[in-house]
Amino acid sequence: MLDVNKIRADFPILSQKVNGKALVYFDNGATSQKPQVVIDAISKYYQEINANIHRGVHTLSQLATDAYEISRGKLQNHINAKFPHEVLFTSGTTHGINLVANGFASILKPGDEILVSAMEHHSNIVPWQMLCEKTGAILRVIPMNLNGELIMSEYDKLLSDKTKIVTVNHISNALGTVNPIKYMIDKAHEAGAAILIDGAQAVPHLKPDVQELNCDFYVFSGHKICGPTGVGILYGKEAWLNKLPPYQGGGEMIKEVTFEKTTYAELPHKFEAGTPNIAGGIVLGTAVDYMNQVGFDNIQQQELELLEYGTKRLLEIEGLKIFGTAAAKTSVISFNIEGIHPYDIGTIIDKLGIAVRTGHHCAQPIMDFFKIPGTIRASFAFYNTTEEIDVMVEAIKKAKVMLS
Ligand SMILES: *Cc1c(COP(=O)(O)O)cnc(C)c1O
Repeated sequence: MLDVNKIRADFPILSQKVNGKALVYFDNGATSQKPQVVIDAISKYYQEINANIHRGVHTLSQLATDAYEISRGKLQNHINAKFPHEVLFTSGTTHGINLVANGFASILKPGDEILVSAMEHHSNIVPWQMLCEKTGAILRVIPMNLNGELIMSEYDKLLSDKTKIVTVNHISNALGTVNPIKYMIDKAHEAGAAILIDGAQAVPHLKPDVQELNCDFYVFSGHKICGPTGVGILYGKEAWLNKLPPYQGGGEMIKEVTFEKTTYAELPHKFEAGTPNIAGGIVLGTAVDYMNQVGFDNIQQQELELLEYGTKRLLEIEGLKIFGTAAAKTSVISFNIEGIHPYDIGTIIDKLGIAVRTGHHCAQPIMDFFKIPGTIRASFAFYNTTEEIDVMVEAIKKAKVMLS
């Protein structure tokens, strides 16, 4: 069992007061808080080894390069990629998806199809729409049911030899649904299509095994797994990364440049143009070490308890409706209270120190599907407690009285 009080002591921000009240941080779906080891590792990098990587022969440059590549290896192990060069550093999930979508511009022809799901984050919709505009490919949507579960029989029907890539999130940020991605990956491959998994909401809760999943691409952000902002990972199968053209041109991504012709560097450098977020890349390794030390079994156990307890307590509130009631669900609860705008609840409970997200959660099509303007979203992390849920429930009851 997780000693939550001990874990909470690792996160300095959690003992802060906000608006004079003890902070209750339930916006983990937007970004996680950072443990002291991660905060320390950032300043240690700048205090001791700051230098540009892969360029200089001088000692600091070597140290920074080594630390960056060691971190890449940690991420490789973490997701069980076959090779370190299949693990690309990006600025985050959004960057990773855009990189792949841009690469597919050289593959797609008019009339080819891209499948997205009905529950995607905007960053897994818009890059594909832009790709369709560029290539004449067609975007098709895998529908979901009222529980917020993708309908697999419809997915099977949508797949055809026209399908070139399927893109779906592992876990929905707005609903918490865990999608049957293994099934979806196998089916995509049977149809001869590639598949990208947006793992941004999955990696905070589980350790993906990309070889076992057999996905072609898997993307996530560092800042949702206790790491800094501005760094993330794009895993791609070697064969795909060799096939796709570079995303950005610049330093570091070349073998040889003349004004007549440039040849590109080997993987992973081909996709890592320019000076990256070096500190971020190194510290992402520290963050992953920290999460593994806590242990994903412990994380899941704690979060399941929070999900069950939170669901039960919230449903005690009259007129409260939960959106996202899938059988397979992670610790995200999206809800509304009849007759009250989500924003008003969010504003009042913020005054009581409680951080939740209100709005469409970068997933407007989901809100349109349920015919609502948005929801209040409480997303729990392993460092949250059932006592904090009690505080939120009381605050919502108070806000409800004030607003009705
Ligand atoms: C957060 C999130 C993204 C976008 O991540 P960025 O860090 O903003 O690039 C994409 N998809 C899902 C499911 C997310 O939760």
